[in-house]
Amino acid sequence: MHLIDSHCHLDFEQFDLDRWQILKRCQQLGISHIVIPGVTAQQWPRMFELCEHNAMLHPALGLHPMFMQQHQADDLKTLELYLSQKNVVAIGEIGLDFYSKDHDKDAQIKLVTAQLKLAQQADLPVILHVRKAHDQMIALLKQYPVKGGVVHAFSGSEQQAQNYIKQGLLFGIGGAYSYQWATRLHNLIKQLPLSSIVLETDAPDMPLEGKQGQRNSPESIAVIANIVADLRQQKVKDIAKITTENCKKLFNI
Ligand SMILES: [Zn+2]
Repeated sequence: MHLIDSHCHLDFEQFDLDRWQILKRCQQLGISHIVIPGVTAQQWPRMFELCEHNAMLHPALGLHPMFMQQHQADDLKTLELYLSQKNVVAIGEIGLDFYSKDHDKDAQIKLVTAQLKLAQQADLPVILHVRKAHDQMIALLKQYPVKGGVVHAFSGSEQQAQNYIKQGLLFGIGGAYSYQWATRLHNLIKQLPLSSIVLETDAPDMPLEGKQGQRNSPESIAVIANIVADLRQQKVKDIAKITTENCKKLFNI
């Protein structure tokens, strides 16, 4: 059984002490690839260094909407330059986060629009982080259609899911689905076509139920595959096969 973690921040310092041991255990669990999404330009060189040392790891580059204060004026130029020089599997994570009270909507829309244009130019898929802004994001995707992508940690409505599917987007399914009280998500995942699903951990964040407060790990992807299989009443080997195929096709890995 092969699995892929489509969203893991393995470059974060929480993994500095045991990153390579974790990867060894991942291999034993059948996890063949891990996509590392970028959040700020400062992290990109470090991501390249890690990915160049291990063929399992693949970098995506992007400026995350939750780190607006850290982004610099020339980061978009740096992004464009890297896209012409390096092997990058997606633009991400990018998006809109209107959840926190002090967000600057206009600045976020401007930044994500510039990055959607870069995705078009580079013919790359996107990894989207969207909170409280799905309708705005869908409207932007209609205006700037991309090659495809993933809506990471999707928890919108079924209608919004259908609109994303029309724009060629897939959904990243992770730890949030492990919580017993998450009945709305449990219903949602039964409605989504398996061809629109990829698995993700978002490690070190988004721990599984029962592990709150602990560091999450890409090893959890095996548990998430089982959770999805249980919720959809399908065989785990079918979930693994199709979600792995979806991921490989999307990221060209
Ligand atoms: Zn993330």
